[in-house]
Amino acid sequence: NKQVILRNFVVSGSPKESDMFLRTGTAKLKVPEGSENAVLLKNLYLSCDPTMGIRMRNMKVPGSALLFESGSPIRGYGVARVLDSGNPNFKKGDLVWGLTTWEEYSLITAPQILFRIEHADVPLSYYTGLLGMPGLTAYIGFFEICTPKKGETVFISAASGAVGQLVGQFAKLLGCYVVGTAGSKEKVNLLKSKFGFDEAFNYKDEPDLVAAIKGCFPEGIDIYFDNVGGKMLDAVLLNMKIRGRIAACGMISQYNHDQPDGVHNLMNIVLKSLRMEGFLTSDLFHLYPKFLELLLPQIREGKVNYVEDISYGLESGPRALVGLFSGQNVGKKVVAVAHE
Ligand code: NDP
Repeated sequence: NKQVILRNFVVSGSPKESDMFLRTGTAKLKVPEGSENAVLLKNLYLSCDPTMGIRMRNMKVPGSALLFESGSPIRGYGVARVLDSGNPNFKKGDLVWGLTTWEEYSLITAPQILFRIEHADVPLSYYTGLLGMPGLTAYIGFFEICTPKKGETVFISAASGAVGQLVGQFAKLLGCYVVGTAGSKEKVNLLKSKFGFDEAFNYKDEPDLVAAIKGCFPEGIDIYFDNVGGKMLDAVLLNMKIRGRIAACGMISQYNHDQPDGVHNLMNIVLKSLRMEGFLTSDLFHLYPKFLELLLPQIREGKVNYVEDISYGLESGPRALVGLFSGQNVGKKVVAVAHE
């Protein structure tokens, strides 16, 4: 049983490949006799998620099921086949997605977030992204937090990533004017050609972010879907319209900063009667069925596009994961571990 082990918690800077190592576990994995909870999984796809970087730093974040331990396999979302089960909710042969461990086979003794996959007519890897936790994040952040209306102006950072690409398409389907920013020419092209954004720019090419945003939104922004925080958030605050809304979804630019950036323009929240609200998808999985009901038909009808960036083999996992923090991924980053 090959495993990706956390060597030590990261103390400073971005996580590195060498903070993890591969090991072959020798423990015999078996659902304990009489267990009414445990499931044995064969992992098929593992999801690379930015918050795994936070957990590699041992920061105190909510959600004990997600925490890492040094010397143990790292944890995250994935897609798996049930090999054995003592749990009445799952049976041998089921396909599932949810919290698992980064190894070929995982014994999950008390599944907390694990869903049976009922619709396998779409690629299974989608359940790490579009139809999994990041997709639900896009849905909650946009529809529940931002209360969007047709015709509003929407700005999205890290817009070509797992969450951002879906937020942009939800906003276009609703009839909003949508602009995204991303960190390379290739990603900017995707935003316009594949995801239908009205405008997009590479923030790394813009010496003056406030002016770049103003150029796209002369009248201002109604909705900012924030995936990055820091300097981008600061520049956006100056460009928000009165009574604009900001979904504080993530702040990836701050996850590996030993000293977080100062945000100087917060007073705009008062002056413009803005609403800025954070949320954790891991607290809101009860919304998953409603989300699936909305999105599945849109995927089947070809109304929603999706770009994923797949690495093959568990050994490719550490590089895939740390690549998120330098924007190496083009679309949702997934590690394919085994065939179905
Ligand atoms: P992505 O697929 O967007 O991958 C991360 C991207 O972030 C990179 O490709 C890169 O894109 C960008 N990035 C990396 N470092 C920086 C930096 N220093 N400054 C600016 N941008 C950077 O990730 P996800 O779509 O999975 O996640 C997007 C955000 O949503 C993250 O902040 C994540 O933590 C958050 N999130 C929050 C959840 C919640 O419950 N609130 C749940 C899931 C995700 P580029 O090349 O464009 O810079």
